[in-house]
Amino acid sequence: MASVARSRRAFLADWLRASALCAIAPLPLDRFGVAACVAGEDVRPARNPSFSSSPFELGVASGEPGPDGAVLWTRLMGVSDPTSAVPVRWEVSADEGFRRIARTGEAMAHPDLAHSVHVELDGLEAGRHYWYRFHAGDATSPVGRTRTAPAPGSEPGRFDFVFTSCQHYERGWYTGYRHMARETCDLVVHLGDYIYEEGPGLRTDLVRRHDTPEVRTLEAYRARYALYKRDLDLQAAHAAFPWVFTPDDHEVDNDWAGEHNHEGMTPSVFLARRTAAFQAMYEHLPLRSGAIPTGPDAQLFRRLDFGAAMRLHVLDTRQYRTIQPCGGRRAVPCDERFADGATILGEAQATWLRDGLDASPARYNVIANQVFMARLLEGEGELTLAMDKWDGYPEDRQRLMAFLDERRPSNPVVITGDLHTSWVNDLKRDFERPDSATVGTELAGTSISSSGDGVDVSPQGVNAMSLNPHVKFFNAQRGYVRCSLGTDRLRADYRVMPFVTRPDAPIATRASFVVEDGVPGATEA
Ligand code: FE
Ligand code: CA
Repeated sequence: MASVARSRRAFLADWLRASALCAIAPLPLDRFGVAACVAGEDVRPARNPSFSSSPFELGVASGEPGPDGAVLWTRLMGVSDPTSAVPVRWEVSADEGFRRIARTGEAMAHPDLAHSVHVELDGLEAGRHYWYRFHAGDATSPVGRTRTAPAPGSEPGRFDFVFTSCQHYERGWYTGYRHMARETCDLVVHLGDYIYEEGPGLRTDLVRRHDTPEVRTLEAYRARYALYKRDLDLQAAHAAFPWVFTPDDHEVDNDWAGEHNHEGMTPSVFLARRTAAFQAMYEHLPLRSGAIPTGPDAQLFRRLDFGAAMRLHVLDTRQYRTIQPCGGRRAVPCDERFADGATILGEAQATWLRDGLDASPARYNVIANQVFMARLLEGEGELTLAMDKWDGYPEDRQRLMAFLDERRPSNPVVITGDLHTSWVNDLKRDFERPDSATVGTELAGTSISSSGDGVDVSPQGVNAMSLNPHVKFFNAQRGYVRCSLGTDRLRADYRVMPFVTRPDAPIATRASFVVEDGVPGATEA
């Protein structure tokens, strides 16, 4: 039964990849609301589509920039006949006023993908801005701006990106995104927790509320993305820059690992939930068709090149990991961490990462990573490690650190989300020996809103820095990290805000660190 459902979904994925214009007839939904589909008679495109609300209320976005294009995204809301497909015309212009049109076309917003639209552009010039918009019926979308990657091997001189993560809707305003939209920036990298799946919170300091119970079905995941994406500051950051997105846990369920979650679902039940979560994720982000899920599986680890400046290795540390050892949470380390086959990357991804580092043509090899990579001992007396992080998978980490030491790929810099706090770490050949070689750098960025208002220095930070000599910086406020790649250094500015539970916080650079070309580890600027 599972394999039948699975093969139908594999078929759907193939079909979606083949053509968004092909017609399908829906089959009944499974318990997570995912429809298996078969090819059937034509779903007629709505001739004169009408909308019960503004169809573009979730904004526009672009992503996955290459030297000749990017993905353009939108999703139509309020389609009056929700079973109809809706033709969407798109335009790309070399100027903001849409006088120098570079490309136009038509895409079909299909009901089986929640009327989302993904346009994969090609034929554009490298390393420049383009503006884009969509038309559906009588409605025209807001204008978005994107930017193609520098030409392969070319020297852009300077390349700027921002990285961000963890945008809990209830815990704070997205003021950081309003500031981000005004940055000088070629690219945004989002490291996961774009949504949180849980139901409405009980705290008294929430700025707004999740409007449904914990999310487990396709319809509910779709509604959760729509809730988050109605935020105008988030829309502004999407409309300003292309994004590269990789999920962490909360796009599906807290701390999930492979086919396991921590609510007692059996693997087959959890995988059906993951199917729903991944489909909604694809529908709401500017991902390439290669990321369209096949049932519960989605190919999300990938590489993007930005001329001679940067190769971005995007990791997926959830789908292929074994279950967290030693009880799963922060715990006194136990032998289970070294169990046979324990892994956070999986063998295929680990090999892919090493190969991509070895063959990289770029000066900076930035690794987009979800959970903390450096060792992070905490506590007093009995010291603990967090088993959901790379600390739970020390052998995978050790293999990567040894590889960095022995093969010396050019300037490995790991960027990390998840912890809702800012950190700068040296990555060590052997974290137990502070005098061992520094083989790379980890820049861990704070959340946009998750955990609410923060503080500059917390007891957690003081304790962590005293127990982990490779940690060079800590801050527990909200914000993001702005990075500028030059020809001889990467500079990282930790941009933080004094509060997020009230609107209109200012933003300031709390600290800046540089990674000099050829010198692993960061130093404060
Ligand atoms: Fe988070
Ligand atoms: Ca997380």
